[in-house]
Parts: sequence; structure tokens; C-alpha cells
Amino acid sequence: MLFPLDNRPVILFTTFVNMNNPMKKYPQVILKPGKEGPVLRFHPWIFSGAIQEITGKPAEGDIVECFSSKGSYLATGHCMTGSLAVKLFTFKRQEIGKDFWIAKISEAWRVRKSLGLTDNSNTTAFRLVHYEGDNMPRLIVDVYGSMAVLQAHTSGMHDVREIIAGAIISLSEGKITSVYDKSAESIRKMTGRIVEDGFLAGDVGECEVLENGNRFHVNAVTGQKTGFFLDQRDNRDLLARYSQGRTVLNMFGYTGGFSVYAAKAGAKVVHTVDSSAPAITIAAENMKLNGFDAPHYECITADARKYLDTMEQDQYDLIILDPPAYAKNVASRIQALKGYRSINAVALAKIKSGGILFTFSCSQVVDRQMFTSAITAAAVDAGRQVRIIQHLSQPADHPVNIFHQEGEYLKGLVLMVE
Ligand code: SAH
Repeated sequence: MLFPLDNRPVILFTTFVNMNNPMKKYPQVILKPGKEGPVLRFHPWIFSGAIQEITGKPAEGDIVECFSSKGSYLATGHCMTGSLAVKLFTFKRQEIGKDFWIAKISEAWRVRKSLGLTDNSNTTAFRLVHYEGDNMPRLIVDVYGSMAVLQAHTSGMHDVREIIAGAIISLSEGKITSVYDKSAESIRKMTGRIVEDGFLAGDVGECEVLENGNRFHVNAVTGQKTGFFLDQRDNRDLLARYSQGRTVLNMFGYTGGFSVYAAKAGAKVVHTVDSSAPAITIAAENMKLNGFDAPHYECITADARKYLDTMEQDQYDLIILDPPAYAKNVASRIQALKGYRSINAVALAKIKSGGILFTFSCSQVVDRQMFTSAITAAAVDAGRQVRIIQHLSQPADHPVNIFHQEGEYLKGLVLMVE
């Protein structure tokens, strides 16, 4: 074994880790000379332009090992189609079997346990696995009380779903009894393959959870994503601090997450608006579940743009704008920035003087600086004096891998408008 400058052992292509127990041989992805830098810095993606040669004809989702042009082992991952050719999940050469995935889920569980989330009587819903943040590219697992919802975006992660479900049940010591696989849409979009959603264990697909003591009904089967937007937990908590006595518009409110917190914190009026009628039905249920009902706490099915354009000037003094990801890829980024600018300009123009705007972007390809620029342009359009009073992000159970900072997908600003 040779030790090059980066202190990683060079393993020749033909060398096995242990000759008595030869490791399974995976197809090899060999990089072009000089293209190993990002992998040496533990970035978990390899783009097709960096690849010299692929041996063994791996299919989408197959495990591959990556090597530098000089033959040193770099990392192991899942083969993808398209320009993002490999998603890496380990930088240590090893056999990728059942034990490997169980160890990964155990580590994710340990992290959530240390965050006080696995046994918390006040908050019973959390994200157990968050993509690259947990070194499991393209996998999420959300826990809602006694049920977990798994969503794989690659065939490689989907192939090990049963192992993952078993590990979750065992780590929870029997507290989690149902695991629902909700990968059909993501697998079809990412790979074109048709698979079905379904239970990997148990049969409970909806339940009531607590988030900071607030009650929410979650339906994993019919709801959007895994059923609830756990990524806004801390921001909802923060909103409560600004809500006392205010008239609130929760735009893109989904099932009323922000609305329940605002009402509980003493908002005078809370209007929840979303274009999805099923989401609005659950939002109204969630408001009732927490003791809040119309007319002060109304849930309205409407298109955001139409609602913002027709609402009265000075009607609200606290507005939340949490739209869906306007940019799904780099090609749609400019259009997305125009979208953020335009809805924020209306909200900033119409909010009451002294009002507060919580504004978000969950587009991964729109970084914090771009988002702030779009909001700055919106403030210019609105012609209002605006102060940024807080910068918001995603909570601790949606961690960002330091080697993959693109993982900080949720960006938010709290603005005070003169
Ligand atoms: N703030 C929510 C999550 C919002 S997700 C929470 O805390 O739970 C984005 C929401 O935007 C979805 O509920 C989706 O139905 C809604 N949406 C998408 N397009 C919309 C439109 N044009 N007008 C209003 N709502 C829309």
C-alpha cells in the first residue's frame, strides 16, 4: 500500500482488502486525471464530465467504487443516470451489505437521540434521515409518532428499503410499528421506473403528532411529501414570538403549521391560504384540534397570486410566504427568482406599516445570497423601508453535510416593514 500526499492508501484495482475473505467486486468508476479533488474533499457527488471510464456496465442504482486516474480508491456510491453520475455514501472501502445500512440508520438515530427527538413527549415528529446530511444521498425518513415514512429517490436506496425499515423498528425498541414507503413518485421522476407505494411494516398511514406541544393531524398516504413539513418546526416556534395581537396571513399554509402556532400565541386573526383543497381541509381540522375555529381562524382554498393581488391594503400585519420550490433545477433558477421577487413585492407593498414578513425559499439551487437579492429587488419594487431582523434556516434534524453545503436548502428572512 502506498500513501500519496492526501494520506489515503492507494489500493491497486486488483487488490482485495483481505485475501482470506475477498470483498465483493463492484463496477469501477475511474476519474479523469486531476478530477479527484472534490471527492478528496468528501463532496458526495460525481459528475459525468469527471469520469474517464466505467467498468462492468453498472445500471442505475448499482453500487460502484470510484478510483482516481492513478488507481487509488476514493469512495463508493450509487450509479445514477444523467450528468450527476454517482452519489457517494462512503469514503471508506468496505463491503456494502445489510450491516452497512443498519450502521448508517443507527448513526442517524443516535444523532436524533442526542438532539432529544427520539423520546420527546412535546414533539413526537422528526426527520430521522436527511439525504447527504446523513450520508445517505437521496433518502429521507420522517417519523410521526408510531409511524415512519421513507422516501427514496434512487433505485439503490429503494432496493434496501426493507433493511432500513427493519432497522428503524428495532432502534425505536418497538415504538415505531408502521413504516410506509412513499417512493413511487420520486423513483418515477428520477429513474423512470414504476414502483408502488406501500407499507413495509404495519398499516398505519395517518396519525396525530405533537410539535412543540401543538397538535397536528398527518396523513402520510394522501398528504404532500411525507405528510408534513417538519423543516419549519423552529421557524414556526419563532413566529409565535411575533404573533401576539397580530392579523396573520399564512400563505402557502398547507395543513396550517404556522397558523396553529400564531393562534396559540395570541394572534387576533389567522387566515390560512393554500391552493390545495385537501390540505386546507386538514388545516381547518388542525386549527379545531387546537381549539381555534372560524370566523377568526379561517382556512381558504385559493391561488396565492390571485389572493395577494386582491387582498386589501393594510389587511395583515404578519405575513408568511412559504411557497413550494420554484426552481427544481439550475435551468429554472432565473424564472424562480422572478417568482420570489414578484410575490414578495406584493406582500411588502400591502403589509401594514410596522408589519412583519416571514419569507422563505426551499429551492436548493437558489442560495441564500440569490434569495436575499430577489427580496431586495422586491423591497425596491414595493418602495418600502425594510429591515432584515432575522435569518432563518432548517432545523437540526435536517443537518447539512459540511462537505455539501448545497444541502442547506431552506432559507428564510424575517423582515420588518416601515
Ligand atoms: N408552510 C407550510 C408548507 C408549505 S409547502 C407548512 O408549514 O406546512 C408549499 C405549499 O404551497 C403546498 O401546501 C402547496 O399546496 C401550496 N401551493 C403550491 N402552489 C400554490 C399556489 N399557486 N397558490 C397557493 N398555494 C400553493
